Order: sequence, then structure tokens, then C-alpha cells
Amino acid sequence: MNKITFKTFVLLILILSISACQQPKSNENITSKEEVQPEPTQPDATEVWEPQPTIITPVYDSIVPSDAIVLFDGKNLNQWKSSKDNAKAQWTLNEDGSMTVKPGIGDIQTKEGFGSIQLHIEWKTPEVTVSEGQGRGNSGIFFQDRYELQILDNFRNKTYANGQAGSIYKQSPPLVNASKKNGEWQVYDIIFNAPEFNGSGEKVKSGYITVLHNGVVIQNHTEILGTTEDIGFPKNDAHGKAPIRLQDHGNLISYRNIWLREL
Ligand code: MG
Repeated sequence: MNKITFKTFVLLILILSISACQQPKSNENITSKEEVQPEPTQPDATEVWEPQPTIITPVYDSIVPSDAIVLFDGKNLNQWKSSKDNAKAQWTLNEDGSMTVKPGIGDIQTKEGFGSIQLHIEWKTPEVTVSEGQGRGNSGIFFQDRYELQILDNFRNKTYANGQAGSIYKQSPPLVNASKKNGEWQVYDIIFNAPEFNGSGEKVKSGYITVLHNGVVIQNHTEILGTTEDIGFPKNDAHGKAPIRLQDHGNLISYRNIWLREL
């Protein structure tokens, strides 16, 4: 074998080897798949019995589920404090079992911090309207002290879509406007999944939120892009559990029946 022929021979062997390596091993794959996960032939093969979900008293029998943390039941503001200075929460406690923003006093927040939760909260905007747009019945629920689900009187009150009631403020408009008339009690039922950060402080998983407004889905597993800034883009500084904060935007918004379940 001369030099050129020998080189050609080596090259041919090399090409054949690479080609052999790239061949799909179809039979092998099918066999291993069948071995790992045989198709069940009986109904009980796909039944999961343990662990059983914990039995609780559901919301419709007793207003509040038996495993919920009650944040406000009309009796006091003991679960809340001032966001400004950690002092006692000074919003108005009403005789009908609700509380109302005291304009100028500032936001209030839970004493405890939370991660992923189911939150039930009822709210009411003033019956008498004094302003328009963002100035009419504005408050908000800040999850983990950072991510605002907007509260606004959006009954015949136009504003930017990503700032109306049920929006993730300046990020995601609600799917529909399910607002009741101003002065009527409204309900948010929310599933909030907290974002996750690694040891270096980088976000490795976004937060997500699902919201029902008066029983209607208005946020459907919506990704939370970061903090809900009034000016600027969302920020993603690392954090752990953090309080729920209610906004004093200068309007007389009332709240009642606030409870959550940790997820
Ligand atoms: Mg607001």
C-alpha cells in the first residue's frame, strides 16, 4: 500500500466509525422504553393512594378554610403593622367588620413574611367618585412586598390597560374587566407562586400568579417579570419570604375577610 492509498484507507475507516456512532439505535431505545414503562393493563396500576390529601373544612361551609391563616376578620389589625416605621397599623377599623385606608398614614403590611400562597381578599372602592383614571379608588396588594396586583375602581373608568383593576401593575393587563360598580364589595382569589433565586442571587424561576376577580379568571398563570415599578422596568433582586403589603394611594378603599393558605 503506497502512502496516498494508506491515507485514504485511514480516512475511510474514520468516516465509517463516525457514521456508525451517529446511527440511531432504534431497536435498543424501544426495548429500554418498554422495560422502564410497560403499558398498564389494570386500572389500579395508575392509582395513587398515598399520601392522601389532608382533609380540611372548605371555604363554602365556614367562610374560611380550616387550614387558613386569617389576616383580617374584622376584629382588629393585630396581623398588620405600618410599612413606614413598623409601628401599629393605623387604618380605620369599621363596625361592619371591614377596615379602610386612612389616606396619608401610609401602607400597611403583614407582620409575617410569606412565600407561595393562596390569598382571599375582599375590597370595596368608594361609592362616591371624586376623580378619574388612576386617581379613582386606587390601592393594591403587593405580594412579597414587591409585586402589585392592582386595585382600582374600573367601573366605567378608563385608564391604561396594564394599570387597571386586576393588572400586574405595568406588566400584565387582566384578561377581562370583571369590575363591579363602585361601592360594591368585590373579591380577589389569588394563587401566587413565589419566584426562586439561587445562592448567587440570580433568579432561576419566575413568580407566577393566577387571579379570579368576582369569580372570573383574569390572570391565568401569568409570569411575573419582576418588581412592579411605576417608573422603569421590573427589577429582580433576590429575596426570600416577605410581607403582603396593602397600598395607601390616598383613596378610601375598604378591605374585609382576608385569609391565606401557604402552598
Ligand atoms: Mg395601586
